[in-house]
Amino acid sequence: NRMARSERELPPAPRRQQARFEDLAEYKQVMAQKFASEQLGIANPFYRPHQTAAGATTVIDGRMLINFASYDYLGLNKHVDVVERARETIGTFGISASASRLVAGERPVHMELEERIARFYGVDAAVCFVSGYLTNVAAISCLMGPKDLVIHDEFIHNSALAGIKLSGATRRLFKHNDTADLEHVLRTVAGDYRHIMVIVEGIYSMDGDVANLPALLKLKAEYGFWLMVDEAHSMGVLGKRGKGLAEHFGIDPHEVDIWMGTLSKTTSSCGGYVAGSAALAAVLKASAGGFVYSVGLAPVLGAAAVASIDILEREPERTAALRRNGSLFLKLAKEAGLDTGLSGGYSVVPVIVGDSLRAVQLSNDLLSDGINVLPIIHPAVPEGFARLRFFITSDHTEEQIRRTVTLTAERLNNLTARNFGLGGVDI
Ligand code: PMP
Repeated sequence: NRMARSERELPPAPRRQQARFEDLAEYKQVMAQKFASEQLGIANPFYRPHQTAAGATTVIDGRMLINFASYDYLGLNKHVDVVERARETIGTFGISASASRLVAGERPVHMELEERIARFYGVDAAVCFVSGYLTNVAAISCLMGPKDLVIHDEFIHNSALAGIKLSGATRRLFKHNDTADLEHVLRTVAGDYRHIMVIVEGIYSMDGDVANLPALLKLKAEYGFWLMVDEAHSMGVLGKRGKGLAEHFGIDPHEVDIWMGTLSKTTSSCGGYVAGSAALAAVLKASAGGFVYSVGLAPVLGAAAVASIDILEREPERTAALRRNGSLFLKLAKEAGLDTGLSGGYSVVPVIVGDSLRAVQLSNDLLSDGINVLPIIHPAVPEGFARLRFFITSDHTEEQIRRTVTLTAERLNNLTARNFGLGGVDI
């Protein structure tokens, strides 16, 4: 036995001591932040427990609050039709799809949902995954490989970055929503790539601005790449009927190669989708690891998403109300002198306040005023650009929006006046 002999001839292996998790830099960072917030007497604003389904309002610690921290864009999370359809589906199919659809088989709702999404977009086909995050990871890593190039907006979501990394493709980024910079990258990339993919978001999750689709399509015609649009925050939001970025610009949805979105926001469920050509869907269903080797979407979640799409199509006034609320929020915030950055006043309106500590303190102050809104701090955004991020819903009332903007401006002014003198403390 040759293996056994060569192993016997090896010198004894040095004893290897694996590090404790407590020794990891990430753990030390968490503990340092905890220590700093305790020293400064600032409560942790994250992981606040809610005692109800959160939408335009929520209940925390037994207090009813105005809520801007849930993605219930069209107020469908508790809608009677959505809940009823979910209940019926549980009655028939139970909770789980039990295994990959490849082996455990389809449930009628899988096909129904995929057909509905394709029809909603006006494209040929769609494929669903068990989360929005997984959709980006699975789709990008399936389509792209080491011989390929992915160019993306510098602000794309972490899930798309994870997909690119997994794909092994070369990665380049361009300045946020700057198609001149994208063209510069396209002109200057050296190398003979097999495929090129450009990834943008319909509405950017941290800033609330809209991708410049017409300019992207012009570049696509010239330079020949696959265009992928993540519509997590624009499906149900942009366009008169909420059809998203293509409707917003009056563009044929076939012009975009890969429409991607999540079921967790507008459609108040959980899961994600890719929509596009029949060939694209066939490739993903056959070879995306996150589809083939992962459980199928829970039928109940698929049913809730279908019911949500029904309502979205039947009641375009919800999209109109969301848009009215977004514009009102943006207008009032600007009038109050708040820095709303690039936001177009749709589903996401940030209020940029500077360092992380100020954002955390402002969130806590507003909580005591009866408003739940979360800070976004480094590393999710660059240091110095910490913000409160307001998710608008169609259910917010004008009174709630006015009160929130007024109190945010007041609290922020008080913070400025108090001046912590703690620049550089990063929590
Ligand atoms: N893409 C974008 C732009 C997102 O903002 C998010 C989540 N906020 C996702 C993908 C992932 O979606 P999900 O949370 O449904 O997994």
